[in-house]
Amino acid sequence: MNRVVTRIPPSPTGRLHIGTARTALFNYLFARHAGGKVIFRSEDTDRARSKKEYEDEIIEGLHWLGIGWDEFARQSERTARYTELLEKVIAEGKAYVSKELAKDDPEREVEVVRLKNPGKEVVFEDLVRGPINTHTGELGDFVIARSRTDALYHFAVVVDDMDGGVTHIIRGEDHIPNTARQILIQEALGAERPQYAHLPLILDEKRAKLSKRSGATSVMDYRAEGFLPEALVNYLALLGWNPGDEREDFSLTELVGAFSVEGIQKSGAAWNREKLLSVNQRWMRKLSDDQFFAALEASRPDATELASVARRAVPLLKERARTFGEARALLSGELACLFAAPELSRETLRAKEGERGTAFTKAGLEAVLHAAEALPESPDAETAKAALMPLADAEEAKEKGGRGAMLWPLRYALSGQERSPDPFTLFALLGREESSARVKKAIAILGA
Ligand code: GLU
Repeated sequence: MNRVVTRIPPSPTGRLHIGTARTALFNYLFARHAGGKVIFRSEDTDRARSKKEYEDEIIEGLHWLGIGWDEFARQSERTARYTELLEKVIAEGKAYVSKELAKDDPEREVEVVRLKNPGKEVVFEDLVRGPINTHTGELGDFVIARSRTDALYHFAVVVDDMDGGVTHIIRGEDHIPNTARQILIQEALGAERPQYAHLPLILDEKRAKLSKRSGATSVMDYRAEGFLPEALVNYLALLGWNPGDEREDFSLTELVGAFSVEGIQKSGAAWNREKLLSVNQRWMRKLSDDQFFAALEASRPDATELASVARRAVPLLKERARTFGEARALLSGELACLFAAPELSRETLRAKEGERGTAFTKAGLEAVLHAAEALPESPDAETAKAALMPLADAEEAKEKGGRGAMLWPLRYALSGQERSPDPFTLFALLGREESSARVKKAIAILGA
């Protein structure tokens, strides 16, 4: 068999869509698995809608995912070749020039090129769906060029696939209706027929075709949200393909090894954001704390340096955040208290005091201050807990209202928030000195 050649042919008429990325990934995996070649082709024949900035974004996004190619082509640069082959099929009597009134302007006469349609039944063997038959009679002699020098999309695609030696066309099943038309053009050109594999559509949670209404559909939006490319690739690969066993975690290299057309399913593939989040969290947790911190810094729009307390918060972020966006939200929300000493309210400090009185609250905080002296500057949360929890468990504290009576003012003194991580975690993140300073401030607020 010929060396495998696949193609990634996006139309640069919009942002990099999840579906485009998935199709690109499957073409990449199939070719790399077989030791073959990938051609990237910008299908920019729609001059009104194609934009260079979309092409740039598509390329950047695919590269971000780790998808590369061996050859690059742009349809707008190949018009001379299309014209040459149009002339050839006209000369051979397989297509003809037809003088007609322009659709958009019935006053104007144009010379379109129509394919002589033999009107037969076209059967092709789809690698995913089996044989597909189409009666091409009803297509009539369809138009393949707006003029002798202006080939239409289907003609351009077939010429490009032929010239590129494409052996496998892997694309969304919404292209099935185009296939018979393209096969007729191939036959007119005497091109070899590639093999086809049409992928199931990506459906949203309501089982409708994934669209903007279903949520984010642009790869770059996922990047901005703080997803890892490894996670997105892993998730996209499993949208319509499965390895035939229970494995769920795949790096790109592992996917290249495992990929096969036989694993592609026929039925629609459901987009599941919760699943994507959990795949992403697994990939985030595979990072070392230093890698995680670097990725977090890089993921922030202002990319300023984070304080060292944020570095200490990495294990907590790994536990809680499913994207770097969620990690950023924690740092600016629940964990904002790590970066600036809070304003404390006397009322809130005393909120759980009940009958016990302010002297009790104050004594508890003083006991913490005392116990903290024996701690190192940067204890871990377990060490801080071992030193401080006994105070909350002490007989007197227990009698007077249990752990909460003692831990609430401490947690509030450290965070200034009603919601925050537990006081031992905060103590460890802030360090002994900062924690003690905050406790002292709380004691001062409680007054003499
Ligand atoms: N440019 C087409 C698209 O973006 C690709 C068609 C094909 O794969 O043949 O949908």
